[in-house]
Amino acid sequence: MPLLHKGLRNSAPHGLAEVRGATGKQRVRPVAKKRHPPVALRLGDRQATRGFHAGIFGKVLCADGLLTDATTVHTIQRCLHHTDCAGGAPRAERSPVATALPTAEWVRPVREHLLGRLSDRVRGWAVNGEVLPGAELASIVDELLTETVRMGCSDIHLTPYSDRVIVRVRIDGAMLDVLQLPLPAGMHMIRHFKVSAGLDPTHSFRPSDARQTRLVDGHEVDLRLACAPCIAGESLAIRLLSPQRLKRTVEDLGLCEPERCPIEQWLAGSAGMLLATGPTGSGKTTTLCALLHELKMTDRSVVTIEDPVEYQIDGVTQMQVDERHGLTFAEGLRAMLRLDADYLLSGEIRDAETAQVALEASTSGRVLMSTLHSRDAFGAVTALRNWGLADHEIGTCLSMVIAQRLVRKLCPHCRRRGAPSETSVQWLTVRGLPTPKSTWHAAGCSECHEIGYAGRTGVFEVWSLGENAYHMILAHTDERTLREAMVAAGHRPLILDGISMAAQGIISLDELRWLGSLYVPPTGTPAAKLLQQTLSE
Ligand SMILES: [Zn+2]
Repeated sequence: MPLLHKGLRNSAPHGLAEVRGATGKQRVRPVAKKRHPPVALRLGDRQATRGFHAGIFGKVLCADGLLTDATTVHTIQRCLHHTDCAGGAPRAERSPVATALPTAEWVRPVREHLLGRLSDRVRGWAVNGEVLPGAELASIVDELLTETVRMGCSDIHLTPYSDRVIVRVRIDGAMLDVLQLPLPAGMHMIRHFKVSAGLDPTHSFRPSDARQTRLVDGHEVDLRLACAPCIAGESLAIRLLSPQRLKRTVEDLGLCEPERCPIEQWLAGSAGMLLATGPTGSGKTTTLCALLHELKMTDRSVVTIEDPVEYQIDGVTQMQVDERHGLTFAEGLRAMLRLDADYLLSGEIRDAETAQVALEASTSGRVLMSTLHSRDAFGAVTALRNWGLADHEIGTCLSMVIAQRLVRKLCPHCRRRGAPSETSVQWLTVRGLPTPKSTWHAAGCSECHEIGYAGRTGVFEVWSLGENAYHMILAHTDERTLREAMVAAGHRPLILDGISMAAQGIISLDELRWLGSLYVPPTGTPAAKLLQQTLSE
């Protein structure tokens, strides 16, 4: 059994293992080189291992270079697996840091990939953590931003702890640790971001935010900085908004034919209130922005009130909520009525007052679009009732509800078919659904940075309220009965869109478990028949 040099196990407390071998300062005098020539480790093409050299001398693995803690064990295990010298199962011990920060399995290759893209200079700096002169730090920050934008990350978080600052990024909805910096270097980086966005760099005891437009990788990227004091210092969250990623048409949203048609019909002759519902981060605002893009081409006046304004859309008057000066969603909506807007967009309905003004707006012959939190399309009716809107008011103004969730799309270059995973089989069985013989899985290729997924798409449920729904709401029918009646009449629930996207190979069946608890149509309904049919194909 090969032994790992002890240096590999003794990771530095801040999570980065520095391993020095034959060429390092702490020269390792392994076994006689002549008798046991080093076996080159096949580290593959992965850039994650760039700058890392290792060899097996006899039965001792010697390495030189930098590897992040979490990748150490994984990479070495793979290396040993590829070498012939492994006399038994490869053995590698998990370091305490790696054990303390468990991560989802799919996150690991992404982290390796992202780290591999950073230069040795940045990774080296992260370990020694010296406080650099401004210009040098700026170039490191530039490199970090460029690589995160190229990878399609949506956020960067710098979170201070008692002895370190952790740099995390969000990619396709999941957070992953990239660097762990010594406290002084990390705080220096936080101050650098604050100064460049025009914020006071000194420690503030109040939360602050700022907006900055930066040229990253040749494109303009909007940075939304939010600072908040926490017990170990100031925590910084940066939202990266790239106009290139904005979905401009309903087609871009990834809607399938049965869901897209009613939306297009609504756009053609829109009236009343359109609500996008779902949990936070389910892409509701993106959907409304895409609708706005289609609408602004018409000869109508479009005004929005958002918190915050994420994307500036040409030809649309956008207001930003500013509670300090009394500009709330409700106040913004009232202002829009005075501005004589034809289409009004309120970023969110979150209280009774906003719901009431939204109602006034949509009953005065204008079109109102907004988002709210509810489990599915029918939950919107309950939410509006709870905010004090009467049944006849809801029935009259509500014209369409789009419920949605975000899921990761399979990479079209490397997806492969195979038997469904145990998790998927379990997920389907619990819901009384049949298991398909084969389904699409993520693999990983150079196109998708070895992740197997590329970008995200929405799973939708579109409820276009007709005469029947109007009468049922008037009769104060509860949410459940309403849902069952609509499904019996042919409504397509969220799960049906999810399953059909999985059948087409757009998403994997495994991804559906992230949708939360979903309504399963009862046997005999058109939706249940379609589900059975899709899964048995
Ligand atoms: Zn791929």
